[in-house]
Amino acid sequence: MGPGPSNIYPEVSEALSRPLLGHLDPEFLEVLDETCERLRQVFGTSNALTLPLSGTGSAGMEAAFVNFVRPGDPVVIGVNGMFGERMCEVASRLGAEVVRVEAPWGEPLDPAEVLSAHPNPRLIALVHAETSTGVRNDILEIGAAKGDALLVVDMVTSLGGMEVRVDDWEVDVAYSGTQKCLGVPPGLSPVTVSERARTRMVSRPTSWYLDLGLISRYVEAGGGRTYHHTAPVTMVVALQAGLGVILEEGIANVQKRHEYCGRMLQEGLEDMGLELVAPPTHRLAQLTTAYVPEDLLEFPGGEASVRRELLERFGIEIGAGVGSMAGRVWRIGCMGHTARERNVVTLLGALGSVLGRRSHRG
Ligand SMILES: *Cc1c(COP(=O)(O)O)cnc(C)c1O
Repeated sequence: MGPGPSNIYPEVSEALSRPLLGHLDPEFLEVLDETCERLRQVFGTSNALTLPLSGTGSAGMEAAFVNFVRPGDPVVIGVNGMFGERMCEVASRLGAEVVRVEAPWGEPLDPAEVLSAHPNPRLIALVHAETSTGVRNDILEIGAAKGDALLVVDMVTSLGGMEVRVDDWEVDVAYSGTQKCLGVPPGLSPVTVSERARTRMVSRPTSWYLDLGLISRYVEAGGGRTYHHTAPVTMVVALQAGLGVILEEGIANVQKRHEYCGRMLQEGLEDMGLELVAPPTHRLAQLTTAYVPEDLLEFPGGEASVRRELLERFGIEIGAGVGSMAGRVWRIGCMGHTARERNVVTLLGALGSVLGRRSHRG
């Protein structure tokens, strides 16, 4: 069985096979500028400091903290999944005073609790789309009432797959990743920083490589560019192409495609008797979590054997549960180029076949 559906847009694969440009070639610098401009459109922002950071989504997370937090700063972090948990780890390594606001895994955060957790935090951080649980957290209410705090939002799984409006929601720092809904291979972390946040950047942050002050002098053309580190040229070209596909189709249309496919998948899973984890009001379309059926939990390796059979017979990969949901849920991504009706129909048929064989045997 060859590989099954990929979330990489075909135009991106084509871009990856083009001859390599030099990282100082004027042609590449044009590609970089256009990529930043396309990122502004997809993020819904006019922030000048908007760029693809070298490194995966986690690099964006590190940059969002290391450039804005000093030791002792109070930092409020919403935690209702693995990536909120990881933000706490990153902030605590910087010596921040971490104030956790928790919701059980599988449920959204309460914006009022996030806002009242500390009288004057340096920043408030939360994950927009929790990939570990399939839950969306509300950003709008928090942005509108954040006061003096900077608002940092993880948009790794939301960008390119659902509505994202950095400026309207008053988000100060957002970061994403290329390999989720943007339909581009892993390797870059799109980041955007508001003018307000820019005036509060830490000078000489403890990471030299992720120092946004230094990187901006390379990325922003005004007055010439100062070399900081070699841009991962091929990845930037791929991202330019992926963003081009999204803008060509129309951001709203891409969102609708994800929404339609996700809902179709979710209805299909429920029709098969599976129970979904996230509540309907805060359920992501691009990442669906469903409880593993009871009878499969009864024997060791049961749920893993279903995932293996899906991969071996049909070339379809679904994700295992992580953290406190390990072994108990499946996480089914429907992102980027995979968010197509035919892939949903194929998955539902394949899963039905695999589960049907299990119950006949059992
Ligand atoms: C995948 C993911 C990350 C980490 O991104 P990497 O590209 O794996 O470094 C961070 N936050 C969320 C919500 C994610 O889904």
